Amino acid sequence: MMDHIQHNVQEQIAKVQVAAENWTPQRALTWAFETFGNRIAISSAFGAEGMVLIDMASRVHKDFRLFTIDTEFLFPETYALMDRIEEKYGIAIEKVYSVLSPEEQERTHGAALWSRDPDLCCGLRKVEPLRRKLSELGAWITSIRRDQTSARSAARRIEWDSKFGLVKVNPMVDWSAKQVWRYIHDHEVPYNELHDQDYPSIGCTHCTRAVRPGEDPRAGRWPGFAKTECGLHIIEPVPSSPAPQASKAAKFGD
Ligand code: SF4
Repeated sequence: MMDHIQHNVQEQIAKVQVAAENWTPQRALTWAFETFGNRIAISSAFGAEGMVLIDMASRVHKDFRLFTIDTEFLFPETYALMDRIEEKYGIAIEKVYSVLSPEEQERTHGAALWSRDPDLCCGLRKVEPLRRKLSELGAWITSIRRDQTSARSAARRIEWDSKFGLVKVNPMVDWSAKQVWRYIHDHEVPYNELHDQDYPSIGCTHCTRAVRPGEDPRAGRWPGFAKTECGLHIIEPVPSSPAPQASKAAKFGD
């Protein structure tokens, strides 16, 4: 039964996906909130594009849901930004944690796991908590942009996320970093102070450094490893087969 419902949702996504490529981020957000109601939430680590998305969402839907995966290894500046967001937008950020505290992780997997096996560390502190959170939702909204990493280059504005089994909405998928920063300045959007200290991309303290002039903006993430993603944003193709009539139960918001 669940497979049947998922199949119908995927087919409905395939129908709207092409038109959505021409939508503005605001229109994508409006569609997302109207379609999924309380079963959709923004996922954010509060990068520059994430802040734009949060600001846009606050203008189209006042009581939007916002969650973050708190690895417990974030910068003090990131935690300070969370406080500012809650105050400015009048929302409570839903914080999701690993089942292992940092101390439990050290006892189970040894010290400084991030320096030996960052994929396992990200799996424990990011991917598993995200999977748990997404299991309670019908769709999630992210601020990924196609030009951030090669793994994101095929992202669509609306897509079926087969890794986690729900709809994924990427309103800003075709935006450039320049557009992001213009919006931030035009609308006086708060942002992470580390961006002004040569940190274009910010994650955990253990795995993020400032970038040097001329380096790729994500060169400061997992320095010393080939890793560029924590495993949250794997792009999968959406089926393009013709859609049979979808049942009412399979409508997105049901
Ligand atoms: S970014 Fe680093 S510290 Fe954070 S969860 Fe991944 S490997 Fe661990």
